[in-house]
This record gives sequence, structure tokens and C-alpha cells, in this order.
Amino acid sequence: MTEKNEIIDAGWNFDNSYARLPESVYTRLNPTPVSSPKLVIFNGPLADSLGLNAQALQSNDGVAVLAGNQVPEGALPLAQAYAGHQFGHFTMLGDGRAILLGEQITPQGDRFDIQLKGSGVTPYSRRGDGRAALGPMLREYIISQAMHALGIPTTRSLAVVTTGESIFRETVQPGAILTRVAASHLRVGTFQYVAKWGTDQDLQALADYTLQRHFPEVAQDENRYLSLLQEVIKRQAALIVQWQLVGFIHGVMNTDNMALSGESIDFGPCAFMDAYDPATVFSSIDSQGRYAYANQPHIAVWNLARFAETLLPLLHEGEEQAIKLAEGALSDFAELYHRNWLTGMRAKLGIFEEEPQDEALIEDLLNMMQKHQADYTNTFRALTFDKPEDTVFFGTTGFTQWHEQWQARLDRQQESKASSHQLMRNSNPAVIPRNHRVEAALDAAVNQGDYSVMEQLLDVLASPYTHSPEQAEYTTLPEESTRPYRTYCGT
Ligand code: AMP
Ligand code: MG
Repeated sequence: MTEKNEIIDAGWNFDNSYARLPESVYTRLNPTPVSSPKLVIFNGPLADSLGLNAQALQSNDGVAVLAGNQVPEGALPLAQAYAGHQFGHFTMLGDGRAILLGEQITPQGDRFDIQLKGSGVTPYSRRGDGRAALGPMLREYIISQAMHALGIPTTRSLAVVTTGESIFRETVQPGAILTRVAASHLRVGTFQYVAKWGTDQDLQALADYTLQRHFPEVAQDENRYLSLLQEVIKRQAALIVQWQLVGFIHGVMNTDNMALSGESIDFGPCAFMDAYDPATVFSSIDSQGRYAYANQPHIAVWNLARFAETLLPLLHEGEEQAIKLAEGALSDFAELYHRNWLTGMRAKLGIFEEEPQDEALIEDLLNMMQKHQADYTNTFRALTFDKPEDTVFFGTTGFTQWHEQWQARLDRQQESKASSHQLMRNSNPAVIPRNHRVEAALDAAVNQGDYSVMEQLLDVLASPYTHSPEQAEYTTLPEESTRPYRTYCGT
């Protein structure tokens, strides 16, 4: 009797709106149980914000849910169907190793997808085993936490559990499951799937669903599907700018990895740039540099064009008119992107108002950074703290001249030097998840079962704009390495 009363409710409060969509867009399916689940990392603050009870979730019953061994009340698990252009080639994809448990409705009434990643095979697994390795799941946990702290829209990570089962990649790896929290998992690829294999009614249902879920403010517009396209374009333009401003390289911007909500999603081979170089690529499979740093805005437009194509039948009954509308919306991206980028770059330099020469001032700095292989993050940090002597190009004529122009620019604005400095502090992170730091944290966790390195890293990454003395050791660069840093998809 008393024992029963002691069981604390985990706070799951599911709705399953996705399961009410046409059946062609998903397959109902439970996660595949695992032999001995163990919780290795848990996001307490995120649990709180979702209205979940952290203590209950970390108990055996709670972990059974996070491992896929138990389906919580109210959940209606399913695997989502989607397609996508992978490195330009169209393919049928879908959740090959993920299960959507349902949508958690928070005490504030917000709706978030709760997805288990690494939860077993589905009809969309193709030749995959439906499982995930511990290293890549912890990596996604770290990067998504860092992105969130940087103020960049992103899917979140609630927990990682190890499964007690080995999985076979190039080497034998411990298996793991990540609980991912997202505004939704609607992707450009979801629309591509329905446009290709669904009916017109399916497509309209999906579009109306996306409008209701993410863009209710335009759902009554006269041409609501055009508004949908425009809003998705706006959010992507804003998102990619934020990536560029912190030097984030997604690594695999396939259309299935672009979320319509405007959140960053699917952190496979992503990494942050150290030395500024527009051609930077980390992913081992991106030999052509398709997803290089400087290409990200171009790829975003390419992906959005694929999205626009799927909407054509809804935009206008006449195809020519529909294409015109889509092209008009797509052509806005460049302007939106450029405007957001300039605002963001001005802020990184402490500039409040606009002057026509600002762009040249910014470009000159970036060119100098490229020429001298200056560290992207640390250069802006040195400028923020008025320590030009900490930059690699200090003492060069080019930099001396640039610095004078920049100072003159700051003198011309009404705002004080102090507010300028504050703007820069808030716009230039002290710390990013440096590749060597992430690798060290993963190595300790995966190979030694020591999570303290990762916990410390997460702690530092949680407040990138405080610029505290404790962060100093995390700002240093890796030892010179003969080999360039490479990332792997980790599937
Ligand atoms: P990604 O490159 O992680 O975006 O994944 C591309 C596609 O491959 C998605 O449809 C995934 O669900 C699928 N996939 C990745 N890894 C596995 C796996 N181990 N088993 C089954 N499907 C997978
Ligand atoms: Mg993906």
C-alpha cells in the first residue's frame, strides 16, 4: 500500500497528433527492448522544463522508458517516413533507428516530440541495425547542449542510456539510446516523401499540420501554403546565419536533416571551425566539400528549393503561377540571410547602427583571418576584451590599419564604448565545443567509463557568454597535429 504511494509519477503527458496524420507518413511500432539499460547522462533542467519528474525518470521504471523497454502511458510509438536528397541524390529514408514516443505537452502547453534514437530496427532501416553507438550519442548530447547555450535553435537531448549490448561498426562499440526532444521532426524530406509517394490529400494534410504546429500565426492567410514556404525560408535564413556567426559546420545538410521548425538537427559529423577558412570541412564522407562552411547558405537555398517543389500543387492550381510564387519566395533568402548576417557580424564587432562601409570592414577582418589562419572564436574574443596583442596578426600593417578603422567606426556611433563592449561580450562566445575537448570527453566516457570530463565540459559550455576565468583553459587550441581533424557519421 505505502509502496505504491511512493511511486512517483514521471509526468509524461502525451498527445499523438502525428499519429492522426494519414497513415502513409509513418508506421506504428514499439521500440525494441534492450538487455540491460543504464542511464549515463541525464538533463535535469530540460526534464523540469518539460514538466517531467527528474527523480522518477532516473529510477528503474523511468530508465526503462528511456531505453525503450517500457512504453509510457499515453504514448503511441511510431517511426516516421521521409525521403531526402543525400549529397544531391534522392532516396527513400525514414526513421531507420528512431522511434517517436509521442508529443509531451508541457505545463505551459507547449508541444515537444520525444524520440528515442538507437531504439531498434524499423521498416525504414534498410540494411542498418537500428542501433546507435555510445560515442556519437554522447556527441549529439554535447553539441546540442552547446548550441542551446549559444542561443541557437536546436533539438535537445534529455538522456543517454547504454543498452548493455554491443554493436558492430568498424570496431565493436557499446550500444546506446539518446532521448531527443524536438519542436517536431518534420523535415524537408517529410514533404519530399509525401510529394513523391502520397496523395494530394496527404500533402495538404501534412502542410496544414505543419502550419498548425509551427506557424499558426499565418495559418489563416489567403495563400497559407505560400506563407508556410516564406516562414520556413525565414527561419532557415536566421538559423544558418547563427551557425556562420559561431563557426558551426553541420557537415551533412541533406534535405532529410533540415527541420521545418528551424531547429538544428542531426548532429552527425558536425564540428566547430578553429582557424577561419571558408573551405573548412570536417566530415570524412564530404570529399567534395559540398557542406563546407561557406557553402552552408547556398545548400540551405538548394534544400529550400526542394521544399518549394513539393509545395507547388498547393501554391497555385496553375503550375506556371505556382513556380513563380515559389521562385519569388526563394529569392528572398539571399536578402534575409545577408541582412541577418550583417547585423550579427556588426554585433560581433560592437557596432549598433548601420553604415554602408561596415561590410567592407567585416570582410577585411575575415580576409586577414583567413590569410593568417587566425582562430575564429579567439580572434573575436581578443577584440572583445581589447587585447589586439592576442591576435596572430598583431603588429602587421594590415591589422594596425584595420584596427584604427574599426576604432574610428566605434567612435562615430552614439553608444558608449562600454555598451559596445557589452554587445561584443554577448555576441562572441568565450568557449565553443572545441574538437579536441569533445574527443577527450568522449574518450574518457566511452573507453574508461569516466563521465567527469564530459560533465566538466558541459558545465563550461553551458554559459559561453559569461567569459569567466574558469573557462580560460577551454579556449586553448589543440596541439599541432599532422592530420586534419575528421568527423564520421557514426551510424
Ligand atoms: P543520418 O545520416 O544520421 O541523417 O541518417 C540517414 C538515414 O539512415 C536515416 O534514415 C537514418 O534513420 C538511417 N540510419 C542511420 N543509421 C542507421 C542504423 N544504424 N540503422 C538503421 N538506419 C540507420
Ligand atoms: Mg538524419
